[in-house]
Amino acid sequence: MVTEEAVRQALGKVQDPELGRSVVELNMIRDIQIDGSRVSLTLALTTLACPLMDSLTGQVRAAVAALPGVEKAEVKVAEMTEAEVKAAYAQMLQGAPHAPGGNGKEPVSFNLGGTSTAPESMARRLSPVSHMIGVTSGKGGVGKSVVAALLASSLRRMGHRVGVFDVDVTGASIPKLFGLTGNLKKIPEGILPHQTPNGIRVVSTNLMLHNPDDPVAYRGSMINSLIKSLWRDVVWGPLDYLILDLPPGTSDAQLTVMSELPLEGLVMVTTPQDLAALIVRKAVRLSRDMNVRLLGIVENMSYFVCPETGTRHEVFGPSHVEEVTALAEVPLLARLPILPALAEASDAGKIEQFQWPEMDAVAEKVRASLPEGKATRDGIVAM
Ligand code: ADP
Repeated sequence: MVTEEAVRQALGKVQDPELGRSVVELNMIRDIQIDGSRVSLTLALTTLACPLMDSLTGQVRAAVAALPGVEKAEVKVAEMTEAEVKAAYAQMLQGAPHAPGGNGKEPVSFNLGGTSTAPESMARRLSPVSHMIGVTSGKGGVGKSVVAALLASSLRRMGHRVGVFDVDVTGASIPKLFGLTGNLKKIPEGILPHQTPNGIRVVSTNLMLHNPDDPVAYRGSMINSLIKSLWRDVVWGPLDYLILDLPPGTSDAQLTVMSELPLEGLVMVTTPQDLAALIVRKAVRLSRDMNVRLLGIVENMSYFVCPETGTRHEVFGPSHVEEVTALAEVPLLARLPILPALAEASDAGKIEQFQWPEMDAVAEKVRASLPEGKATRDGIVAM
């Protein structure tokens, strides 16, 4: 005789890998119906766009079907309400580990007060990050945010847990690229990131403003404290990759705050209009000052291929990035063309749906250049 108790017990072993708790603890199992040897139930997901939907549904079905006396297991899928999602997050937070997360380089803890004894925030303890990668550029408008968003999207499609932290306070364009609006929500443990349809967690100062078109008049130390408090207070949950959309340029204020975040690697975006030699030198200096590895250079808007003739035009003049990066022994990650369809996808807030083999290759190179490791719930980097 199959009982509801037995079904719940079996499902207690099925974990939501995103939230690191069992589907029963997260209250995702609803409406268990038992009719002789037939069991049906509803699995409530945080979002129906959850990329893990098939695998989670399969695991739930298999766990029920394996019970003695069950001949047929049926799993329906539903979406949680916003309040339920919050409750699931709160459940994830309960009994959270005390070990700080990290990428093996230094602990992911943050000291706001200037003393080394400041306690680590709850949000940080809940958010071990395996790899934190910054994307920057010499100046604005070169496609830095687009590259950061595409890198995150490619890593997500590879199956990683990915966040994007938009710290380009003055030009925050990440929410627009992902089509995200509305202010970030607060729970007792901290600030919850927004989620894209594919499950990328996004935080941007723009999502904290009432009107996203308001100019962000923060300057210098105010920018620093805003970024620091976001870093302290956002409940990302465990992440394999956190991509930072850094401000362009290299002002001292930016360098200070960036060097305090546990960045592991840096990607520099440039265009052929920039002087390649200068940009590469800047990138090398940045990586030295910030004490992070320079993972490479992406030359964006490098050329345009005429769709009618297939002819390649170097619209912004000839590129010298290949020679310069080779001379400086800095990896050239890609030379990306101008693609009108990419500009359209960005404007439409559909950057995540824009699958681009060139950027997948960049993501693969970035992944390969970092030590293997996955963040675990207790913040230990598992090899
Ligand atoms: P940045 O972050 O460097 O200021 P953005 O990433 O916001 O620049 O990009 C600036 C504009 O250029 C955006 O409208 C974006 O859609 C467009 N863009 C970037 N890269 C490309 C590309 N390879 N092809 C076409 N448009 C692009």
